[in-house]
Amino acid sequence: MLYEINEKALKLESEGKKVIKLNIGDPDLETPPEIVEAAYDAMKRGKTKYSSAFGEKRLREKLASIHQVYADNVIMTPGSKFGIFSVMYLLLKDGGNVVIPTPYWTAYALTAKTLGAETRLVKTELDSNWQMDLETLESAIDKDTRMIILNNPNNPTSNVIDPKVLDGIVRIADDKGITILSDEVYADISFVKTKSILEYGGDHILVTGFSKTFTMTGWRLGYVIANTGLVEKLAKLNQITISNVPVFIQDAALTALELGNEIKEKIRQEYRERAKLASNVLSKSKLEFSEPSAPFYIFPRRRGLDSEKFALNLLDNGVAVAPGTAFGDYKEHFRISLTAPRDDLTTALNKICEAVE
Ligand code: PMP
Repeated sequence: MLYEINEKALKLESEGKKVIKLNIGDPDLETPPEIVEAAYDAMKRGKTKYSSAFGEKRLREKLASIHQVYADNVIMTPGSKFGIFSVMYLLLKDGGNVVIPTPYWTAYALTAKTLGAETRLVKTELDSNWQMDLETLESAIDKDTRMIILNNPNNPTSNVIDPKVLDGIVRIADDKGITILSDEVYADISFVKTKSILEYGGDHILVTGFSKTFTMTGWRLGYVIANTGLVEKLAKLNQITISNVPVFIQDAALTALELGNEIKEKIRQEYRERAKLASNVLSKSKLEFSEPSAPFYIFPRRRGLDSEKFALNLLDNGVAVAPGTAFGDYKEHFRISLTAPRDDLTTALNKICEAVE
């Protein structure tokens, strides 16, 4: 359905109609020019050859110091998506199932399906502020469970896992010897402090990247932090698939990290304003939602809604959103990406409000 919406949006655009595209998570903001310059400069300095499958030493060291781990625990991947795929491949290739809370980012379930792994979904609801019920989690786990995937902050809700709930999840995983893969791609620009999986020690895995934090989606740069045994295996996978992440991109990423806070703060601030704007406009409608604690998304509910029909109809009115069914069993919800300039966003949000009356 996501595909259908996107295709229809593109078709309408090709017919000359304006469509405000709030259906995908690709920010409208540009990559900061300092980062672009750094990549260009690295290319001019000849950083255009094959290189290490683990990633560049200086970048790994910098990331290690940020996350307070060793450089040997860090491996660069082409986007966090490839990191997630690789970890899931290694943990699930010999069988077993994976526990995924919903609403989820669609790629987890699609990857599990590709690998032939069974997926066990644990539903969370708006009415409990999207927090996981620990008893439901325990009952989803069995002797074949190999991993639990967490997404903190979450796409599509922009909600953060309550630290006490996270403590409980980690306790259950540790008791049962199950690895957690924590996807924290939105954590660095979250509006509230989030607790990282790395704070717990143990053999859990962090995946994150540069796409969201530095508006670098098309550069394809992410990384995994894990025990050295898994990092070695991930490097082997890199070797036989991508060889290495381009060095000039890693050089630019180092510049991004050096400029870090200034850039991140600007990006965070813009999304905070957009989230406020969206909450203000939508609160005047019949929609129910939790206010975003992180950038990019809002996931409202309208009782009785068929979100697939709603999304298709809304497109005829020039606004693309993603139906809730793309994220699990959420027919009454839809996801709005706050990835358009504020004036377009206001127009789109007003149209959404009219459409749900
Ligand atoms: N995880 C989540 C939750 C995402 O929403 C996305 C992108 N939409 C990714 C991972 C992938 O990001 P990347 O560009 O680093 O592959």
